[in-house]
Amino acid sequence: MADTPLQPGTLYLVATPIGNLEDITLRALRTLRECNVVAAEDTRRAGQLLKHFEIQKPLVSCHKFNEARKSSSLCQRLSNGETVALVSDAGMPGISDPGQRLVRAALAAGARVEPVPGPCALVAALAASGLPTEEFHFVGFPPRKSGARRRQLEMLTEIPGTLVFYESPHRIGRLLAELTALWPECPVVLCRELTKKFEEHLHGTAADLAARFKDRKAKGEFVVLCGEPRSALAKTSGDD
Ligand code: SAM
Repeated sequence: MADTPLQPGTLYLVATPIGNLEDITLRALRTLRECNVVAAEDTRRAGQLLKHFEIQKPLVSCHKFNEARKSSSLCQRLSNGETVALVSDAGMPGISDPGQRLVRAALAAGARVEPVPGPCALVAALAASGLPTEEFHFVGFPPRKSGARRRQLEMLTEIPGTLVFYESPHRIGRLLAELTALWPECPVVLCRELTKKFEEHLHGTAADLAARFKDRKAKGEFVVLCGEPRSALAKTSGDD
């Protein structure tokens, strides 16, 4: 099935590149070209993306600080039969990005919501990590406060499957230190700058990976994945 016309009254969640502009899909381009309005996390950034692909479209802002307010006017447009394409700064809207509120509001208002799938850092990192993909738990960004971080990590010890974290370059060292203290033998994969020029996939324990960043500043965007075993118990029982 290709080239189905956009359906009136639909909110399209359009995934956009996480670095490499070649990763935009044909369907994303057509949706952006044919929709009535693009709702964007950052209208300047979305404007640059549209300009790169020679698309001219009205843009409205929809970011985490105005999403609740903007949802009602966007839902009104949907109930008038318009088509709205939501884009975030990168990747899939709603995944550690604005979008969830608008999606819930649109569904509650009886509108159609359709994903236009494409790049997503969590999926790209997980698939390339070599860690089990049958069962995984997406954590997103860990909390900033120490107590909340520790409690979350302790709770995650019991969760089966691969864990996937997003983390900022400023806190990557802190996360690796926390993982070393809690799960010293856990296999960790660090995916940096996916789809970009300086893309890297580093494998080891959290201590090994922390050592790799001892002499260089952690720069860029990171996905951190943790395999098993994670608990001290699993570590010792694995010896027999
Ligand atoms: N919606 C996006 C998605 O679908 O992946 C995620 C947006 S979230 C605000 C940004 C975080 O995603 C970054 O801090 C990083 O953890 C991860 N990320 C996004 N792009 C990345 C890339 N090219 N390489 C590695 N991690 C990336």
